[in-house]
Amino acid sequence: MIIAVDGPSAAGKGTLARGLALHLGYHFLDTGALYRMVGLQMLRTQTDFTDVAKATAFARDLNVDDFEDHELRSEVVGSAASKVAVIPEVRSALLKFQRDFAKRLPGAVLDGRDIGTVICPSADVKFYITASVEARVLRRFKELQGLGIANSLQDVTADIKARDDRDASRSTAPTLAAADAIVVDTSHLGVEEALELALGAIKAKFAI
Ligand code: C5P
Repeated sequence: MIIAVDGPSAAGKGTLARGLALHLGYHFLDTGALYRMVGLQMLRTQTDFTDVAKATAFARDLNVDDFEDHELRSEVVGSAASKVAVIPEVRSALLKFQRDFAKRLPGAVLDGRDIGTVICPSADVKFYITASVEARVLRRFKELQGLGIANSLQDVTADIKARDDRDASRSTAPTLAAADAIVVDTSHLGVEEALELALGAIKAKFAI
C-alpha cells in the first residue's frame, strides 16, 4: 500500500502524512529531508549551486542517519534544498531510495512534491495538500519559532513565495497535483480534521 502526499511547503502535508502513517501502522518518509540534506551539504562545504557534479555526489552519498539534524528545518536549508531540487541528476540520484522505501511492508506514506506524479505514479492513494499563502506563512512562522529559529513574517513570506516559484516552474518534476489526486485545502482545517478527511477517503476506497 503506497500513499502519496504532495503539495507546496507548509500546507500541512508533513503533519498529515505522519498522522496517516502512525494511524495505519505504515512507514513514513519525508522526501523533502533528502533534498534538505543535499542542500545542507552544499551550504556547509560552501559549494556553488551550479556545481552539478558535487550536488549529485552529495545526493548519492546521503547518510539517512543525518535526518534528525536540527539545522535541516531552517528556511535557509529549505531554500538550498529547492535549489538542488532543480538539478535533474540530483533528482535521479534520489529516485531509487524513495522507490525502494515505498515498497516497505505493510505500507508506506511518502510526502513531497512529485510522489504521485514521478516517484510512485501508481500509488494506491494520492493526496495533494494545499492552503492559502497566508495560512502557510503563519504555520511556517510558528514552526520556526517553536524550533527557536528567529525569522520575521516578511522573511518567511518572501522565502515561501520564492520556493513556490522555483518548485512550480522547474522543468523536472515540478510541484503538481497528479490527475488522480484527492485535493485537500487545509487553510481552514485543523490537524485532526485533515487527518479524519484523509482517513475517510482511504477507508472509502479500500474498506479498511
Ligand atoms: O518539503 P520540504 O519543505 O522539506 O522540501 C524542501 C524542498 O525540497 C522543496 O522546496 C523542494 O524544492 C524540494 N523537494 C522536491 N521534491 C520532493 C520533496 C522536496 O523537489 N519530493
